[in-house]
This record gives sequence, structure tokens and C-alpha cells, in this order.
Amino acid sequence: MAEKEKLVIVGNGMAAMRLLEELDARASGRFDITVVGAETRPAYNRILLSPLLSGEMAWEDVCLKPAEWYAERGIRLVLGDAVAALDPSAKTATLASGATLGFDRCVLATGSTPILLPVPGKHLAGVRTFRDVADIEAMTETTKDGAPTVVIGGGLLGIEAAYGLARRGVPVTLVHIMDRLMERQLDAEAARLLKLAIEAKGITVLLEAQTAEIAGEAHVEAVRLKDGRELPCGLVVMAAGVRPETGLAKAAGLSTERGILVDDQLATSHPDIFAIGECIQHRGACYGLVEPAYEQAATLAGVLAGETRGYPGTVVATNLKVSGVPVFSAGDFEGEGAETIIYRDGALPAYRKLVLRDNRLVGAVLYGDTADSHWYLELIRSGRAVLDIRAALPFGQAYAEAA
Ligand SMILES: Cc1cc2nc3c(=O)[nH]c(=O)nc-3n(C[C@H](O)[C@H](O)[C@H](O)COP(=O)(O)OP(=O)(O)OC[C@H]3O[C@@H](n4cnc5c(N)ncnc54)[C@H](O)[C@@H]3O)c2cc1C
Repeated sequence: MAEKEKLVIVGNGMAAMRLLEELDARASGRFDITVVGAETRPAYNRILLSPLLSGEMAWEDVCLKPAEWYAERGIRLVLGDAVAALDPSAKTATLASGATLGFDRCVLATGSTPILLPVPGKHLAGVRTFRDVADIEAMTETTKDGAPTVVIGGGLLGIEAAYGLARRGVPVTLVHIMDRLMERQLDAEAARLLKLAIEAKGITVLLEAQTAEIAGEAHVEAVRLKDGRELPCGLVVMAAGVRPETGLAKAAGLSTERGILVDDQLATSHPDIFAIGECIQHRGACYGLVEPAYEQAATLAGVLAGETRGYPGTVVATNLKVSGVPVFSAGDFEGEGAETIIYRDGALPAYRKLVLRDNRLVGAVLYGDTADSHWYLELIRSGRAVLDIRAALPFGQAYAEAA
């Protein structure tokens, strides 16, 4: 019997897990697979970290597959160890623990690293990022006596971290440098409504507030803002964005820019080393969301199994996961120079902004009622002309289809 092809997957996050499932469905038993994950737990649904933080969910709800799932398929799962070096010409991966793995083909699924703002005090105990289960455990431990918390960053992650902590009864101040929350996904009106809803959850929101320093001896004691205000706290959560984890690829001589450069087959600059998920840069784009990672995993499973299809890129959409605050954004939501249709009901409150170019929907922001978000996203992705339903467009799918 011919020897199986050796596949080493670096990272056991959401993209790697989806790749394993896709390979199991299409090319079961064809590869001799080893997955190396730096975290000590098997892959879990990172998107559900905020309900894990708030206590609405437990580990069992977020874990994607138990260790037995891997074992039953003959997949070797190495956890709590990182691939420290790759040698593309020798086709070996060396682990931090010292072991060396040989491979025929290798997949990098190393995700992203949270950005630590370059402010004094960023390395003090009690300063955390919001990326993995270890962060959740540390935040829970630090705030068990109700220590006030400052979350730096008013994007999706910062808001979800603030909400998760507030749900557990922790006093939270959310500090954001911009003049509105989630400015990369929301226009001014939707962001205004969001701020009101977040404040109604008991969170203090400070906009146009720049962190100058994190003060404390060994442990954080306060956040000092540029304008002189001081916010006493026992925990600081930095949610100031992520950058693709390219260190391993770069050191191995693979081409990288912001992310690891890949072609439409998800191959890096070495033909036997592939990359998927948040660590990649494809056609100039680095995605910070899971849907593109899943599409890349499906494409790569096909490529590894001998198909020739390619990954064309993804039109992304964002949903905020704060209960009772439905927010959706996709595409070109600012719509500079485009036509916009705005629907607003201040009392509910409900708000929809639809952006059109050449009678095609190119962007949407929904606040309050997001039930039709998939329909709007499909209209954006398909690029279909919407002239026939234009008058009904702001009222949603049922209305448009009945028109
Ligand atoms: C709190 C939170 C909420 C989110 N909410 C949403 C959302 O609502 N919608 C959405 O689309 N996306 C959301 N995301 C983003 C989503 O989780 C990511 O897009 C997704 O996890 C990307 O998958 P990945 O496999 O590329 O990276 P990851 O899931 O981060 O996995 C990468 C793994 O590789 C490991 N690793 C890195 N280097 C090495 C190495 N050298 N050796 C071994 N292992 C290594 C890392 O430890 C990590 O476990 C959220 C993220 C967070 C943190």
C-alpha cells in the first residue's frame, strides 16, 4: 500500500478545524495528518468568547470537537506546543518542545495576534487582550472581586468584551479614540444608536478619548487619558485590533506583507506550503472574520484533494453579538458619492441605510431589526440590479417580494 501523504497543519483554530472537517468529508483517510496548536485546548469557537466571558456559555458550548474526534480519524493532535521553525526545503517543522516533524505539504493557520498599544504600562499585570480562553480565564480571575475595568477600543471586540464583563456585574468604562463606536462598520447614526444601547447596559462610553498611560506599580491601578482624566481600575482590556500572525512564515523565507501572501489556490510562495484564515493576505485583503476563513478552508481541502478550483475572495459582513442590540453592516456602508436610501424610526429605534451604485446594492447598515441581513448580503454579493424592488428595498425581503 502506498504511504499516505504527510500533512502538517500549524494552528488548531477555527480555520484549521474547518479544513480538517472538509478533508474528512472529501478525502477521508488520504492524508497522514498532524495538527500543532499553541493553545492548550482543542479548537473552539472563538466567536463565542464573549458569551463565555459573560457566563452565558460554558466551555462545552464553545469547544468545536473533543480530542476523541481527532483520535477516531487518526489525526495526531499536539496541543500546548508551537511550531517554532519551518524549513521549506527540508520540509520539516520544528516544535518549541524540540521535536521535528517531516511533511509533504504544510498548512499555516496561525490566525492573528492582538495589538498592544504602545503606551507606558502596557506590560503591567492586569492588562489583557481579548483573543483566547486564557484571556477569559485571566479576566474572570482579576474581576472576581468586582474590580472596575477599562476596555480600550470601541470596535466589535471592545464592545463585546465590555458587554461580557458588564453582564457579570463588573463596572466597565469603554474608551475609544474615535468620535463613534465601530467606525469601520457603522455610519454616524447607527453608531449613535449603538452608543445609547451600550450605555443602557450600564457601560460608561468615552469617545475621542486617547489613552496616554496605564499606571500602576506591578499591577494596573488606573488608565490615564491624554486630556488628564484618570480612570481607576484593576483590569485593562486592550481591544485595539489584530495583526496577521506572520512570524513563522517570514522566518522561513515565505513572502509576507501585512499577511502571508497566498494565491487563489491558497499556496504561499512555496508550492507545498499553504495558508488559510486570518494569517493570510489574498488579493490585497486581510480578513479579520471567520466566514472568509471557512471559504478558504473549503477551497484548500479541494486543492489538496486534487481539484483546481480557486478562492475568489469574500464580501464580508459584521454582526455584533450583544443581546438586544442587533447591528449588521456589510460592504460600502459610507457610500461616498453613491445614492443612499435611509429608513429611520426614532422610537423603536430602527435604522437602515442602503447604499446603491448603478441601481445595485453595494452596502448596508442595519440597526434594530437585522432579520433581513442575509437577504441584503446576498443582494450585495450577487450584484443583481434592484431597480424593480427599489421602492420596497428598505422594508425588507417579504415586502420587496410581495411588491
Ligand atoms: C472575541 C472575539 C469575537 C469574534 N467575533 C467574531 C464574529 O462575530 N464574526 C466573525 O466572523 N469573526 C469573529 N471573530 C474573529 C474569528 O474568531 C476569527 O476570524 C477566526 O478565529 C479566525 O480563525 P483562524 O483559524 O484564522 O485563527 P484562530 O482561530 O485565531 O486560530 C489560530 C490558532 O493558531 C495558533 N498558533 C499561532 N501560531 C502558532 C504556531 N506557530 N504553532 C502552533 N499554533 C499556532 C494560535 O494559538 C491559535 O490557536 C471574533 C474573534 C474574537 C477574539
